[in-house]
Amino acid sequence: MFPEAPDKRPPVSVTWNLWHGCTRVSTGCKHCYMYRRDEAVGRDPSKVEKTKSFNLPVSRFRAGEYKGRFKVPAGSFVYTCFSSDFFHVEADKWRDDAWDMIKERSDCSFLIITKRPERIEKCLPFDWDNGWKHVMIAVTVENQEMADRRLPVYLAVPMKHYSVMIEPMLSAVDLRKYLSLGKIEDVNVGGESGPEARICDYDWVLDVHEQCVESGIGFYYHQTGARLLKDGREYRISREHQHEQAKKAGLDINRK
Ligand code: SF4
Repeated sequence: MFPEAPDKRPPVSVTWNLWHGCTRVSTGCKHCYMYRRDEAVGRDPSKVEKTKSFNLPVSRFRAGEYKGRFKVPAGSFVYTCFSSDFFHVEADKWRDDAWDMIKERSDCSFLIITKRPERIEKCLPFDWDNGWKHVMIAVTVENQEMADRRLPVYLAVPMKHYSVMIEPMLSAVDLRKYLSLGKIEDVNVGGESGPEARICDYDWVLDVHEQCVESGIGFYYHQTGARLLKDGREYRISREHQHEQAKKAGLDINRK
C-alpha cells in the first residue's frame, strides 16, 4: 500500500479547524475576528458546526506519488480550532473522535488554545493520564481578572505542557505567583487587531517579558495589535505590520 521510497516530505504547519462557531465568554471575545468575519457574510457565528476538514490529520492521498500516506507529513505542527474553542460544550459530541485522531498522529505536535479551562478536565480522553507529550493545551487570559480566574483551574489539570497566551492584552498582568509553580513553559503576548481594537500598552508587554526572564521561561511577542501605546504616544499599526513590528522589538526568548 505504501510507496517503497521513504517519505521525505518536510514537516509543515497547518491549521485544523475541526468545528466552526463559538459563543463569547469574556471581554477578550468582544471583538472576536470570527464573529466579525461571519457577520460580514450573514452567517450566524454562534452556531457551532463540524467542518469539512474534521478528518484533516488522518486524511490520506488516494493517488499519486504519496498514495496511501497521510496528507499532513510526519513531524508537522497542527494549530487547532482557530474559529471556535476546542472545549466548547456544543462540540462535546465530536471531541472523542478528535482525540482519536490526535492520538493516531502522535508523530505530529498539536496546539489547542482555550478560554474554557474549567471544561478541560471533564473533556480529556480516558487514557490522558498526565498528558500526551505531543499535545499542548494553552489557556488565554486577556487581563488580570481572567488570569486569576482561569490560571488556578488550568494549572490544576494534569498536562505535559503548560502555555499562557495574553491575547488580546488588555491590561497589565502579574503572573508571578503562577510562574513560581514552575509549570508554565512560555508566555505569548499580543495586542488586539481589527477596526475596534483596544489599546495595548508596551509597558505591559515589557513587564511580562521581565517576569519570563526572571522565571527562565520562553516569551513570545506575537503582534503589536492595531493600537500600541509606547512612551506616552499612541501608534496605529496596520494589519500587515503588526507581526513584523513585534518581532523587531527583539523580546522573544526561545527556550524550545
Ligand atoms: S472563545 Fe475565541 S472563538 Fe470563541 S468567541 Fe471567544 S475569541 Fe471568539
